Amino acid sequence: MKPFTYERPATTAEAIEAAAQPGARLVAGGTNLLDLMKLGIEAPGHVIDINRIGLDRIEATPDGGLRIGAIVRNADLAADTRVRRLYPVLTRALVSGASGQLRNKATTAGNLMQRTRCPYFYNTDMACNKRKPGSGCSAIGGLTHNLAVLGASDACIATHPSDMCVALRVLDAVVEVEGARGAKRAIPIADFHRLPGDSPHIETALQPGELITGVVLPPPPGGTQLYRKVRDRASYAFANVSLALVVRVEQGDVVVERLALGGLALRPWRIEAAERGPRNAAEIADIVLAGAKPTADNAYKLPLARRMLAAALEQVK
Ligand code: SF4
Repeated sequence: MKPFTYERPATTAEAIEAAAQPGARLVAGGTNLLDLMKLGIEAPGHVIDINRIGLDRIEATPDGGLRIGAIVRNADLAADTRVRRLYPVLTRALVSGASGQLRNKATTAGNLMQRTRCPYFYNTDMACNKRKPGSGCSAIGGLTHNLAVLGASDACIATHPSDMCVALRVLDAVVEVEGARGAKRAIPIADFHRLPGDSPHIETALQPGELITGVVLPPPPGGTQLYRKVRDRASYAFANVSLALVVRVEQGDVVVERLALGGLALRPWRIEAAERGPRNAAEIADIVLAGAKPTADNAYKLPLARRMLAAALEQVK
């Protein structure tokens, strides 16, 4: 591993100032970054530990929502009684992710920033545009079992691995960030993760030097919230397909208010045109999955997503 210097700031302002140094990386739980450093995929010259800058609380907002601090642990967020009661889709998504040990360390901001699990990204002997821009994409024409069927490009066909972010997408969460001299921005979760296009190494809307300070959940949507996940084994695996849903039952019919899918693209996949209409599961899936470009290896994801949606709607009837 390349040698690096280490710093533990006491305030957000100090962390932001430290992060402005070339080659600096922030770390909190370290559940992704440290693996990437051991593999030589990330090689920061300076590591800034933000575990002592605060940002570790879950607070009610005046309008009836919640503000989640950037370093609130995934396990603590899932167990929070307000989250369990008002945003059960988030609790279910969180507890379906990783393992108990990882959830105890992994943070809200780290979950947002975690990088793809494309196997070629993790193999430094293989070309990868995300790891080394312009080097090519070994996944195209390679093993694509758990890679993208939607939103991919000729430069990258990776998926985003998070469960939490799929739930945040149906909850219309907002990511709060702070940059130099206290400049603050609020980024809707819909705009936070980028599709690969021709620059897959640029993964989020964060600007250099900006730090995630928290995530705001608007007041909870009415209706029933569900999260389902299918994976290659029963636990400690990323989604082949996941599904976050907000539905209501109207005169015996189930109406999909909001719907997002994980495991299909480089960001949670939500097509609002499919929502709130008098449509059945097949019609909704036709809209959400339109334009899919599967390979022979990952074509299974499309019928799987359809069956998951149909089963979830049947469950709430
Ligand atoms: Fe890299 Fe993306 Fe290609 Fe995977 S799919 S090898 S992450 S460029």
